[in-house]
Amino acid sequence: MKPIQEVLPLLQQPRNIFITTHHKPDGDAIGSMMALTLFLEKMGHTVSPVSPSEVPDFLAWVPGLSKVLNHEAEPRKVEPAIAAADLIFCLDFNDFSRVKGMQTLLSSATQTKVLIDHHMFPKPDFDFGVSEPLKSSTCEMVYDFINLTGHNALIDEQIGACIYTGAMTDTGSFRFPACTASVHEMIADLMRKGLKHSVIHEEVYDSWEERRMRFLGFVLQERMEIFPEYSSGLITLSQEDLQKFDVRSGDTEGIVNYPMSIAGIRFATLIIERKDGIKLSFRSKGTFDVNAFARNHFNGGGHFNASGGQSSQSFSETILCFKRILSEFHPSKN
Ligand code: 5GP
Ligand code: MN
Repeated sequence: MKPIQEVLPLLQQPRNIFITTHHKPDGDAIGSMMALTLFLEKMGHTVSPVSPSEVPDFLAWVPGLSKVLNHEAEPRKVEPAIAAADLIFCLDFNDFSRVKGMQTLLSSATQTKVLIDHHMFPKPDFDFGVSEPLKSSTCEMVYDFINLTGHNALIDEQIGACIYTGAMTDTGSFRFPACTASVHEMIADLMRKGLKHSVIHEEVYDSWEERRMRFLGFVLQERMEIFPEYSSGLITLSQEDLQKFDVRSGDTEGIVNYPMSIAGIRFATLIIERKDGIKLSFRSKGTFDVNAFARNHFNGGGHFNASGGQSSQSFSETILCFKRILSEFHPSKN
Protein backbone atom coordinates (compact mmCIF):
# COMPACT_ATOMS: atom_id res chain seq x y z
CA MET A 1 0.00 0.00 0.00
CA LYS A 2 1.43 3.35 -1.07
CA PRO A 3 1.21 6.27 1.39
CA ILE A 4 -1.99 8.30 1.27
CA GLN A 5 -0.24 11.50 0.13
CA GLU A 6 0.45 9.78 -3.20
CA VAL A 7 -3.28 9.74 -3.93
CA LEU A 8 -3.45 13.55 -3.88
CA PRO A 9 -2.30 13.99 -7.53
CA LEU A 10 -5.23 11.78 -8.58
CA LEU A 11 -7.59 14.29 -6.96
CA GLN A 12 -6.29 17.25 -8.99
CA GLN A 13 -9.16 16.88 -11.47
CA PRO A 14 -12.86 16.16 -10.83
CA ARG A 15 -13.36 12.44 -10.16
CA ASN A 16 -16.19 10.05 -9.58
CA ILE A 17 -15.60 8.67 -6.09
CA PHE A 18 -17.25 5.73 -4.35
CA ILE A 19 -16.94 5.74 -0.54
CA THR A 20 -17.91 2.88 1.71
CA THR A 21 -17.57 1.66 5.28
CA HIS A 22 -18.29 -1.44 7.33
CA HIS A 23 -21.49 -3.48 7.72
CA LYS A 24 -23.73 -2.33 10.62
CA PRO A 25 -22.12 1.13 10.53
CA ASP A 26 -21.51 2.99 13.79
CA GLY A 27 -20.89 6.69 14.51
CA ASP A 28 -17.32 6.58 13.26
CA ALA A 29 -18.24 4.69 10.09
CA ILE A 30 -21.03 7.09 9.08
CA GLY A 31 -19.27 10.20 10.44
CA SER A 32 -16.07 9.52 8.51
CA MET A 33 -17.89 8.55 5.31
CA MET A 34 -20.06 11.68 5.35
CA ALA A 35 -17.22 14.04 6.38
CA LEU A 36 -15.16 12.80 3.43
CA THR A 37 -18.20 12.89 1.10
CA LEU A 38 -19.05 16.51 1.95
CA PHE A 39 -15.39 17.57 1.72
CA LEU A 40 -14.75 15.88 -1.66
CA GLU A 41 -17.96 17.38 -3.03
CA LYS A 42 -16.73 20.84 -1.98
CA MET A 43 -13.53 20.03 -3.90
CA GLY A 44 -15.65 19.49 -7.04
CA HIS A 45 -15.80 15.69 -7.14
CA THR A 46 -18.91 13.55 -7.63
CA VAL A 47 -19.31 11.25 -4.64
CA SER A 48 -21.41 8.14 -3.94
CA PRO A 49 -21.43 7.19 -0.25
CA VAL A 50 -22.62 3.61 0.29
CA SER A 51 -23.37 1.74 3.50
CA PRO A 52 -23.35 -2.08 3.27
CA SER A 53 -26.41 -2.16 5.57
CA GLU A 54 -29.00 0.05 7.24
CA VAL A 55 -27.87 3.24 9.04
CA PRO A 56 -29.11 3.17 12.66
CA ASP A 57 -31.78 5.71 13.71
CA PHE A 58 -29.48 7.56 16.13
CA LEU A 59 -27.43 8.66 13.08
CA ALA A 60 -30.38 9.68 10.89
CA TRP A 61 -29.63 13.40 11.47
CA VAL A 62 -26.02 13.24 10.13
CA PRO A 63 -25.48 15.93 7.43
CA GLY A 64 -25.80 14.59 3.88
CA LEU A 65 -27.21 11.25 5.01
CA SER A 66 -29.95 11.30 2.36
CA LYS A 67 -27.21 10.75 -0.26
CA VAL A 68 -26.27 7.37 1.27
CA LEU A 69 -27.29 4.19 -0.55
CA ASN A 70 -27.93 1.08 1.56
CA HIS A 71 -26.51 -1.90 -0.35
CA GLU A 72 -28.62 -4.44 1.54
CA ALA A 73 -31.83 -2.58 0.59
CA GLU A 74 -30.88 -1.37 -2.91
CA PRO A 75 -28.08 -3.47 -4.42
CA ARG A 76 -29.20 -2.58 -7.96
CA LYS A 77 -28.46 1.11 -7.33
CA VAL A 78 -25.03 0.39 -5.83
CA GLU A 79 -23.76 -1.66 -8.80
CA PRO A 80 -23.82 1.25 -11.32
CA ALA A 81 -22.41 3.62 -8.68
CA ILE A 82 -19.32 1.46 -8.18
CA ALA A 83 -19.02 0.77 -11.92
CA ALA A 84 -18.95 4.55 -12.61
CA ALA A 85 -16.27 5.26 -9.98
CA ASP A 86 -12.65 6.24 -10.72
CA LEU A 87 -11.60 5.76 -7.11
CA ILE A 88 -12.90 3.78 -4.13
CA PHE A 89 -12.34 4.98 -0.55
CA CYS A 90 -12.69 2.38 2.23
CA LEU A 91 -13.23 3.91 5.66
CA ASP A 92 -13.20 2.42 9.18
CA PHE A 93 -12.50 -1.18 8.06
CA ASN A 94 -9.46 -2.90 6.56
CA ASP A 95 -10.72 -6.29 5.46
CA PHE A 96 -13.29 -6.79 2.67
CA SER A 97 -15.13 -9.40 4.75
CA ARG A 98 -16.32 -6.49 6.95
CA VAL A 99 -18.71 -5.27 4.22
CA LYS A 100 -20.55 -8.63 4.33
CA GLY A 101 -22.98 -8.82 1.36
CA MET A 102 -21.00 -6.22 -0.59
CA GLN A 103 -17.74 -8.20 -0.39
CA THR A 104 -17.79 -9.67 -3.91
CA LEU A 105 -18.71 -6.34 -5.46
CA LEU A 106 -15.85 -4.60 -3.65
CA SER A 107 -13.17 -7.24 -4.11
CA SER A 108 -13.91 -7.66 -7.81
CA ALA A 109 -13.83 -3.89 -8.49
CA THR A 110 -10.64 -3.03 -10.38
CA GLN A 111 -10.49 0.69 -9.56
CA THR A 112 -7.81 2.23 -7.34
CA LYS A 113 -8.68 1.56 -3.70
CA VAL A 114 -7.77 3.95 -0.89
CA LEU A 115 -7.80 2.97 2.79
CA ILE A 116 -8.31 5.31 5.76
CA ASP A 117 -8.61 3.22 8.91
CA HIS A 118 -7.48 2.67 12.50
CA HIS A 119 -7.97 -1.09 12.97
CA MET A 120 -5.02 -3.44 13.44
CA PHE A 121 -3.52 -5.60 10.66
CA PRO A 122 -4.84 -4.21 7.33
CA LYS A 123 -5.26 -6.68 4.47
CA PRO A 124 -2.99 -6.06 1.46
CA ASP A 125 -5.92 -5.19 -0.85
CA PHE A 126 -5.49 -1.40 -0.99
CA ASP A 127 -3.44 0.64 -3.47
CA PHE A 128 -3.02 3.75 -1.32
CA GLY A 129 -3.84 4.50 2.24
CA VAL A 130 -3.18 5.12 5.86
CA SER A 131 -3.61 2.63 8.70
CA GLU A 132 -2.95 4.00 12.20
CA PRO A 133 -4.22 1.83 15.05
CA LEU A 134 -3.30 4.47 17.62
CA LYS A 135 -5.72 7.02 16.16
CA SER A 136 -8.90 7.70 18.16
CA SER A 137 -11.18 7.26 15.19
CA THR A 138 -11.36 7.15 11.41
CA CYS A 139 -13.03 10.57 11.69
CA GLU A 140 -9.82 12.00 13.17
CA MET A 141 -7.95 10.46 10.22
CA VAL A 142 -10.34 12.08 7.71
CA TYR A 143 -9.60 15.40 9.46
CA ASP A 144 -5.85 14.68 9.05
CA PHE A 145 -6.46 13.81 5.39
CA ILE A 146 -8.30 17.10 4.79
CA ASN A 147 -5.39 18.95 6.40
CA LEU A 148 -2.98 16.99 4.19
CA THR A 149 -4.77 18.33 1.11
CA GLY A 150 -4.16 21.86 2.43
CA HIS A 151 -7.89 22.64 2.53
CA ASN A 152 -8.60 22.89 6.26
CA ALA A 153 -10.53 26.10 5.46
CA LEU A 154 -13.18 24.05 3.63
CA ILE A 155 -14.24 22.41 6.91
CA ASP A 156 -17.61 23.92 7.82
CA GLU A 157 -20.15 23.24 10.55
CA GLN A 158 -21.57 20.22 8.72
CA ILE A 159 -18.25 18.52 8.02
CA GLY A 160 -17.27 19.32 11.60
CA ALA A 161 -20.44 17.66 12.89
CA CYS A 162 -19.63 14.47 10.95
CA ILE A 163 -16.03 14.41 12.23
CA TYR A 164 -17.11 15.09 15.81
CA THR A 165 -19.63 12.24 15.74
CA GLY A 166 -17.04 9.51 15.14
CA ALA A 167 -14.43 11.02 17.45
CA MET A 168 -17.07 11.20 20.19
CA THR A 169 -18.49 7.69 19.74
CA ASP A 170 -15.15 5.88 19.26
CA THR A 171 -13.60 7.49 22.37
CA GLY A 172 -16.65 6.83 24.59
CA SER A 173 -17.25 10.61 24.73
CA PHE A 174 -13.53 11.43 25.03
CA ARG A 175 -12.72 9.11 27.93
CA PHE A 176 -10.79 6.18 26.43
CA PRO A 177 -6.96 6.26 26.34
CA ALA A 178 -7.07 6.73 22.53
CA CYS A 179 -8.36 10.27 23.10
CA THR A 180 -5.16 12.27 22.71
CA ALA A 181 -4.20 15.94 22.87
CA SER A 182 -4.53 16.00 19.05
CA VAL A 183 -8.19 14.99 19.35
CA HIS A 184 -8.87 17.91 21.70
CA GLU A 185 -6.93 20.25 19.40
CA MET A 186 -8.99 19.05 16.44
CA ILE A 187 -12.21 19.68 18.37
CA ALA A 188 -11.09 23.19 19.30
CA ASP A 189 -10.60 23.81 15.55
CA LEU A 190 -14.05 22.34 14.76
CA MET A 191 -15.67 24.50 17.46
CA ARG A 192 -14.10 27.62 15.94
CA LYS A 193 -15.69 26.53 12.65
CA GLY A 194 -19.19 26.44 14.16
CA LEU A 195 -19.48 22.97 15.70
CA LYS A 196 -22.45 22.63 18.09
CA HIS A 197 -21.15 19.76 20.19
CA SER A 198 -23.99 19.56 22.72
CA VAL A 199 -26.56 19.12 19.93
CA ILE A 200 -24.60 16.11 18.65
CA HIS A 201 -24.42 14.49 22.10
CA GLU A 202 -28.19 14.89 22.37
CA GLU A 203 -28.85 13.48 18.89
CA VAL A 204 -26.69 10.41 19.50
CA TYR A 205 -27.20 9.64 23.19
CA ASP A 206 -30.53 11.21 24.19
CA SER A 207 -32.73 10.14 21.31
CA TRP A 208 -33.92 6.78 22.66
CA GLU A 209 -37.45 5.51 22.34
CA GLU A 210 -38.94 4.42 25.67
CA ARG A 211 -38.95 0.85 24.32
CA ARG A 212 -35.15 0.89 24.06
CA MET A 213 -34.72 2.06 27.67
CA ARG A 214 -37.10 -0.70 28.89
CA PHE A 215 -35.07 -3.21 26.88
CA LEU A 216 -31.86 -2.02 28.56
CA GLY A 217 -33.52 -2.44 31.97
CA PHE A 218 -34.37 -6.04 31.06
CA VAL A 219 -30.86 -6.71 29.76
CA LEU A 220 -29.15 -5.45 32.93
CA GLN A 221 -31.62 -7.25 35.20
CA GLU A 222 -31.98 -10.56 33.38
CA ARG A 223 -29.18 -11.04 30.87
CA MET A 224 -26.00 -9.81 32.54
CA GLU A 225 -23.68 -12.14 34.43
CA ILE A 226 -20.76 -10.84 36.47
CA PHE A 227 -17.70 -12.99 37.19
CA PRO A 228 -15.66 -11.06 39.80
CA GLU A 229 -13.12 -13.90 39.91
CA TYR A 230 -12.28 -13.21 36.25
CA SER A 231 -12.84 -9.40 36.46
CA SER A 232 -15.38 -10.02 33.70
CA GLY A 233 -18.98 -9.42 32.72
CA LEU A 234 -21.08 -11.17 30.08
CA ILE A 235 -24.35 -10.16 28.42
CA THR A 236 -26.19 -12.67 26.23
CA LEU A 237 -29.17 -11.82 24.01
CA SER A 238 -31.14 -14.46 22.16
CA GLN A 239 -33.17 -13.98 18.99
CA GLU A 240 -36.28 -14.42 21.19
CA ASP A 241 -35.17 -11.49 23.43
CA LEU A 242 -34.56 -9.30 20.38
CA GLN A 243 -37.99 -10.10 18.96
CA LYS A 244 -39.82 -9.66 22.27
CA PHE A 245 -38.52 -6.09 22.63
CA ASP A 246 -38.71 -5.33 18.89
CA VAL A 247 -34.98 -4.54 18.93
CA ARG A 248 -33.79 -2.57 15.86
CA SER A 249 -30.48 -1.70 14.33
CA GLY A 250 -28.57 0.50 16.81
CA ASP A 251 -30.61 -0.47 19.89
CA THR A 252 -27.83 -2.73 21.17
CA GLU A 253 -25.18 -0.03 20.66
CA GLY A 254 -23.17 0.55 23.83
CA ILE A 255 -24.75 -2.32 25.80
CA VAL A 256 -21.42 -4.20 25.95
CA ASN A 257 -19.92 -1.37 28.03
CA TYR A 258 -22.27 -1.60 31.01
CA PRO A 259 -20.48 -4.38 32.93
CA MET A 260 -17.32 -2.25 32.92
CA SER A 261 -19.02 0.42 35.04
CA ILE A 262 -18.88 -2.11 37.92
CA ALA A 263 -15.76 -1.67 40.08
CA GLY A 264 -13.14 -4.31 39.30
CA ILE A 265 -14.61 -5.37 35.93
CA ARG A 266 -12.04 -4.97 33.17
CA PHE A 267 -13.33 -7.28 30.44
CA ALA A 268 -16.87 -7.27 29.02
CA THR A 269 -18.48 -9.45 26.38
CA LEU A 270 -21.79 -9.29 24.52
CA ILE A 271 -23.05 -12.36 22.67
CA ILE A 272 -26.01 -11.75 20.35
CA GLU A 273 -27.98 -14.30 18.39
CA ARG A 274 -28.60 -12.29 15.23
CA LYS A 275 -30.65 -13.62 12.31
CA ASP A 276 -27.47 -13.94 10.24
CA GLY A 277 -25.41 -15.65 12.95
CA ILE A 278 -23.83 -15.30 16.36
CA LYS A 279 -22.00 -12.01 16.88
CA LEU A 280 -19.66 -11.25 19.78
CA SER A 281 -18.41 -7.88 21.02
CA PHE A 282 -15.49 -7.48 23.41
CA ARG A 283 -14.30 -4.49 25.46
CA SER A 284 -11.45 -4.25 27.93
CA LYS A 285 -9.66 -1.76 30.13
CA GLY A 286 -5.89 -1.71 30.49
CA THR A 287 -3.56 -4.43 29.28
CA PHE A 288 -5.94 -7.22 28.21
CA ASP A 289 -5.74 -7.40 24.38
CA VAL A 290 -9.25 -8.14 23.12
CA ASN A 291 -8.13 -7.81 19.50
CA ALA A 292 -5.95 -10.90 19.97
CA PHE A 293 -8.73 -12.59 21.96
CA ALA A 294 -11.26 -12.03 19.13
CA ARG A 295 -8.75 -13.18 16.52
CA ASN A 296 -7.66 -16.29 18.39
CA HIS A 297 -11.05 -17.55 19.51
CA PHE A 298 -13.83 -15.95 17.47
CA ASN A 299 -12.55 -15.27 13.97
CA GLY A 300 -12.64 -11.52 14.51
CA GLY A 301 -10.49 -8.52 15.30
CA GLY A 302 -10.64 -4.77 15.85
CA HIS A 303 -8.67 -2.77 18.41
CA PHE A 304 -6.66 -3.55 21.54
CA ASN A 305 -9.50 -2.55 23.90
CA ALA A 306 -12.54 -2.98 21.59
CA SER A 307 -13.10 -5.83 19.19
CA GLY A 308 -15.67 -8.18 17.75
CA GLY A 309 -16.01 -11.62 16.25
CA GLN A 310 -18.42 -14.36 15.28
CA SER A 311 -19.21 -17.97 15.98
CA SER A 312 -20.56 -20.72 13.74
CA GLN A 313 -21.77 -22.72 16.76
CA SER A 314 -25.29 -22.38 18.15
CA PHE A 315 -26.09 -19.56 20.59
CA SER A 316 -26.00 -21.83 23.66
CA GLU A 317 -22.85 -23.63 22.49
CA THR A 318 -21.14 -20.27 21.93
CA ILE A 319 -21.98 -19.16 25.48
CA LEU A 320 -20.61 -22.44 26.92
CA CYS A 321 -17.52 -22.22 24.74
CA PHE A 322 -16.92 -18.60 25.81
CA LYS A 323 -17.28 -19.47 29.50
CA ARG A 324 -14.84 -22.35 29.09
CA ILE A 325 -12.28 -20.06 27.45
CA LEU A 326 -12.83 -17.47 30.18
CA SER A 327 -12.18 -19.99 32.96
CA GLU A 328 -9.04 -21.28 31.23
CA PHE A 329 -7.81 -17.89 30.20
CA HIS A 330 -8.48 -15.78 33.27
CA PRO A 331 -8.22 -12.26 31.76
CA SER A 332 -7.55 -10.64 35.14
CA LYS A 333 -4.18 -12.42 35.19
CA ASN A 334 -3.21 -11.05 31.76
P1 5GP B 1 -18.41 -3.86 17.85
O1 5GP B 1 -18.28 -4.69 19.07
O2 5GP B 1 -18.83 -2.45 18.17
O3 5GP B 1 -19.18 -4.51 16.76
O4 5GP B 1 -16.94 -3.74 17.26
C1 5GP B 1 -15.85 -3.29 18.02
C2 5GP B 1 -14.67 -3.05 17.11
O5 5GP B 1 -14.22 -4.29 16.57
C3 5GP B 1 -15.02 -2.18 15.93
O6 5GP B 1 -13.93 -1.34 15.69
C4 5GP B 1 -15.24 -3.14 14.80
O7 5GP B 1 -14.90 -2.57 13.57
C5 5GP B 1 -14.34 -4.31 15.16
N1 5GP B 1 -15.00 -5.59 14.80
C6 5GP B 1 -16.24 -5.98 15.18
N2 5GP B 1 -16.53 -7.20 14.70
C7 5GP B 1 -15.46 -7.59 13.98
C8 5GP B 1 -15.16 -8.77 13.22
O8 5GP B 1 -15.95 -9.71 13.12
N3 5GP B 1 -13.94 -8.80 12.60
C9 5GP B 1 -13.05 -7.78 12.71
N4 5GP B 1 -11.88 -7.89 12.08
N5 5GP B 1 -13.30 -6.66 13.41
C10 5GP B 1 -14.48 -6.56 14.05
MN1 MN C 1 -13.74 3.47 14.15
